Amino acid sequence: MTEPTHDEAHGGALGARLNWLRAAVLGANDGIVSTAGIVVGVAGATQSRSALLTAGLAGLLAGSMSMAAGEYVSVSTQRDSEVAALAVEKRELRDQPEAELRELTGLLEERGLSREVAREAAQQLTARDALRAHARVELGINPDELTNPWHAAWASFTAFTVGALLPLLAIVLPPAGWRLPVTVVSVLAALVLTGWASARLGAARPGRAVLRNVVGGALAMGVTYAAGSLLGAAGA
Ligand SMILES: [Zn+2]
Repeated sequence: MTEPTHDEAHGGALGARLNWLRAAVLGANDGIVSTAGIVVGVAGATQSRSALLTAGLAGLLAGSMSMAAGEYVSVSTQRDSEVAALAVEKRELRDQPEAELRELTGLLEERGLSREVAREAAQQLTARDALRAHARVELGINPDELTNPWHAAWASFTAFTVGALLPLLAIVLPPAGWRLPVTVVSVLAALVLTGWASARLGAARPGRAVLRNVVGGALAMGVTYAAGSLLGAAGA
């Protein structure tokens, strides 16, 4: 799953929010595909509703917890390196303020300001809050808004769970004869939606993204159903 990152180049709250939204859609997509694969596979082997419910629920919990743990680890690492970079910056600002002012001036010049204006801007930014200025211009991070690993973990957990609930309910609620068609159709329809949304949020054209997403999900269900049917027929 793509994790939200600080948006260096276009640094803005909007970019960050779109990243989060996209991560949520992709998390839900993972929940849909993996849980659909599990329940359809089990449905290939058995008619038992309790077996379907158990397998689907275990898949939902295992998936959402593994996503949350992975996200927690990755965001914690990112946060650690941001905190370390800020500490280095703080020390440099204390030990060599002149060099840091030159550095900031140079960075602002690279962004298109004239030498004089860059120097003036660097002086003003340094006088107001030197660390924040260097954090934003040099490191591309906002020291007040470092990503919280718990928030990221919770968001992944929720997104995956929401996605996983769809195939789980679709397989256990309908009467036996309707389980597979209801599940396959609702899963593929949901994958059209998540594929479209993630493409739009990533500013890509939706057509191919939707197709890939639907084919991927159909493949996952086809493979697990075949495996489940073989095991079921073998009396395993
Ligand atoms: Zn610096």
